[in-house]
Amino acid sequence: MIWLKKVGISILVSNISEFINGITDLIFPPKSVCIFCKKPLLILEEHEVCKDCISKLMYLHAPLCDICGRPLADLNNVCLECKEEKVYFEKAVSVFYFAGLIQSIIHRLKYDGDIKVAHPIGIFMSYEIKRMGWHRDLDIIIPVPLHAERLHQRGFNQSFLLSEIMGRECRLDVRDNILKRIRYTESQINFSKFERIMNVKDAFYIENNKPIINKKILIVDDIMTTGATLNECSRILKQAGAKEVYCITAACPYHI
Ligand SMILES: [Zn+2]
Ligand SMILES: [Zn+2]
Repeated sequence: MIWLKKVGISILVSNISEFINGITDLIFPPKSVCIFCKKPLLILEEHEVCKDCISKLMYLHAPLCDICGRPLADLNNVCLECKEEKVYFEKAVSVFYFAGLIQSIIHRLKYDGDIKVAHPIGIFMSYEIKRMGWHRDLDIIIPVPLHAERLHQRGFNQSFLLSEIMGRECRLDVRDNILKRIRYTESQINFSKFERIMNVKDAFYIENNKPIINKKILIVDDIMTTGATLNECSRILKQAGAKEVYCITAACPYHI
């Protein structure tokens, strides 16, 4: 009986403290912090990124290549690579220049494992998809896969995290069991254009093509450099029956 009474009192005490916490939260709401810079957000900043950080983001702007979406150094509509190479995707876009704040944020995501920053990046990418109206026409989102060994080292695939956020925002299915990476490719940062093409050649395979037959696919990745990876993924998706392929990346470098 005494034991029951004690339990009763402890439940009551915990309810009272929850009640007091609730009242305190109403009077002094807990401050959330900006996911990028960790400074407290102001009450009017309803997003998870503060105004300061938003003002530091560098959106891509014209002139951009009509096909691959990368910044152009001249006023042509299509870049030299898209003129010279066979391009397998219908169109690709990126949201930001790969520089400054977004460069360090993507670095934090990939190499420091700070996966919380994927959410705002995925939201910015979703805005772009909706702005272009692609979400009304697409069928499936497919992230650029990591090789199993790299996935094991990193613990997550950043492109899959971005895809999941975009899938929720744009109400599209995300499938990461279709496109697989067969080879452990080297990092492409210091590669020439030719080396990049050879590096990704036959690096991917399709594990199951039924869900993509006659479908419109969106491929998602974090960074687009020469576009060799996205083009190779598009080539084998088309070969396996995809009707149209579109690509989006969070960022791409200044000039090509
Ligand atoms: Zn901030
Ligand atoms: Zn281009």
